Amino acid sequence: MRIETKCLHEGYHAENGQALGLPIYQSTTFRYSSPDEIAKLFDLGPGHMYSRISNPTVECVENKIAALEGGVAALCVSSGQSASFLAITNILSAGDHFIASSKLYGGTVNLFAVTLKRFGIECTFVEPDLEIDELQKVIKPNTKAVFAEVIANPVISVLDIEKFAKFAHSNGVPLIIDNTFPTPILCRPIEFGADIVIHSTTKYMEGHAIQIGGVVVDSGKFDWKDYPLLTTPDESYHGLIYAEYFGKAAYVAKMRVQLVRDIGNCQSAMGAFFLDLGLQTLAVRIEKHSKNADIVAKALEKNDKIEFVNYPTLASSPYKALAEKYLPNGCSGVLSFSIKGSRERAIKFMEGLQLANNVVHVADVRTCVLHPASSTHRQLTDEQLVGCGITPGMIRLSVGIENVDDILEDILVSLNKI
Ligand SMILES: *Cc1c(COP(=O)(O)O)cnc(C)c1O
Repeated sequence: MRIETKCLHEGYHAENGQALGLPIYQSTTFRYSSPDEIAKLFDLGPGHMYSRISNPTVECVENKIAALEGGVAALCVSSGQSASFLAITNILSAGDHFIASSKLYGGTVNLFAVTLKRFGIECTFVEPDLEIDELQKVIKPNTKAVFAEVIANPVISVLDIEKFAKFAHSNGVPLIIDNTFPTPILCRPIEFGADIVIHSTTKYMEGHAIQIGGVVVDSGKFDWKDYPLLTTPDESYHGLIYAEYFGKAAYVAKMRVQLVRDIGNCQSAMGAFFLDLGLQTLAVRIEKHSKNADIVAKALEKNDKIEFVNYPTLASSPYKALAEKYLPNGCSGVLSFSIKGSRERAIKFMEGLQLANNVVHVADVRTCVLHPASSTHRQLTDEQLVGCGITPGMIRLSVGIENVDDILEDILVSLNKI
């Protein structure tokens, strides 16, 4: 199956006489014929016992996403933030260190710089455009992972995934990629060497601004021999060794049966059902988002009230070559731009919009705008803001799938008012 077909047919297949639509298993638990049958579940045999750990509806969606990304297994969780948190803490403990690109979603910066630090896990942020020998300088003996976004939110830079994979692997650590904006339709990081892929499914995957969610996908390719959490016995399962018991899918299996069991940040059956509805139309939506954003970016760049536009398909973009390599079919609907003059003029422009929604969200079917410096990145210091590539007057525009002429008209009318 090609990827568009996988969006519809992977994960769930109705047998003779069964429901064509994905059934919602709205149940916390599952009945078995004897305590002995239940005991087998606690020894991690097949089957579902309790929906905090696994659920048949959620499982179908996990299998669909694993197939879309080309991974061996996936785990749906309660949010993108949960996915990032679990991706790191599944293999790092207090006293460990990891490296993250400085061009990241603001919530991820807070998680890595403040909360994980409190747990004794240290993160060093690096400028992702540096050459490998420069990146190498931040490696420490206790470095255990490298983390980056393919299209960074909100500066819309494009990551050289192969360079980062080479950097991570030459140091014996996995590359964890946040692929939220491209989605597997536009880019499949595992094909370029990523070991773990995470998403905020809240964005394009669900796509309609109705359900928070996240997912972690395991490529099955990383050798965990130097990660004792996967290669030494887990006392909470009578000494089970994840890498031996689950083989290639050990990373995500451990995350499910140990971390999500203990922390409880699972996705619900209803949440997974909504996510699946979004995934069914993902390929057609992301194509339209990308086409509309390309037109809007080019029109904005020509307008003399605009200082700069960040969008990788623009001839002026420093990321054009990387986008052609990693995102040949489009760069999603998100772009950012700055209006000439002050922060106040940017705010005035946003107030004048009629069609585009002022919301704390992105990657929605409807066009929406946000002012990062006063919202998502408000908690960051000026230095961190510069590190993330954000200026005080910058606006993030998430181009929807409306008729592009209506989107352009809305922008031009509001620009003319300032
Ligand atoms: C929104 C977002 C997140 C966080 O996801 P939530 O689902 O809001 O928790 C992480 N990474 C990126 C790139 C995002 O845009």
